Amino acid sequence: MQIIQKGNQYTNSSSRDGHAPIAIVDHISGGTMNSMDSWFTSSGNEQSSAHFGVSKAGEIHQYVPIDRMAWANGLSVIAIAKATAPLIKELSPVNPNKYTVSIEHEGTDGSLTEAQFAATVWLHKYISAEVQRIYGKPIAFDDKHVIGHFQVDPVRKPYCPGPKFPWSRLYAALKTKEDEDVKVDKAETIVNGNRLADDSILIEGKVYVPLAAVGEALGAKVNWNNVTKTATLTIKGAK
Ligand SMILES: [Zn+2]
Repeated sequence: MQIIQKGNQYTNSSSRDGHAPIAIVDHISGGTMNSMDSWFTSSGNEQSSAHFGVSKAGEIHQYVPIDRMAWANGLSVIAIAKATAPLIKELSPVNPNKYTVSIEHEGTDGSLTEAQFAATVWLHKYISAEVQRIYGKPIAFDDKHVIGHFQVDPVRKPYCPGPKFPWSRLYAALKTKEDEDVKVDKAETIVNGNRLADDSILIEGKVYVPLAAVGEALGAKVNWNNVTKTATLTIKGAK
């Protein structure tokens, strides 16, 4: 995945005032990616911005650096009291923009294309890793720290990021490790001095060996039941 920088001198942002980002807020843009790009870089926009935008084609655009605050969820002190997200209530009256990273998604009702979903999963992980790198602590991928705009501002933004936003699929995807994080290596298996011809592999510190080859090298009979997915090893002379 690749991040395309789109922010310019007109993109709104300000200091986090010492706050580290601890949550991600998901949004729906309510329009096209082109309109998002032009609005967040327009000299006429003096009211809003977001850190990232994810297009339906799966492109990621960045408008504001992670170590700056974007103007995406700002609330008055009175409005913060109406937030439903526990984190926002706990940290009241701090402006949520100070400690959040915001992602806009191209679209209207929250439904994401497959490419868009894959890109936003990657982006959530990227943001957490960047926050870890810059501030020393990653963003937790739970429903307290990955939230929707409607939980921050239920009065003005009850439909952001939309009724079709795939929350449970997102949380499930955020729990899985990146493919490249899984360490796979070659391993060797020697049975009674004989090296097995079949490849053994090492996955995350565990060696996986071909059972039939090991069994046969030990003089055992190996039966595989494809219905019950059971392998039965019978070693001659053993009871
Ligand atoms: Zn929003």
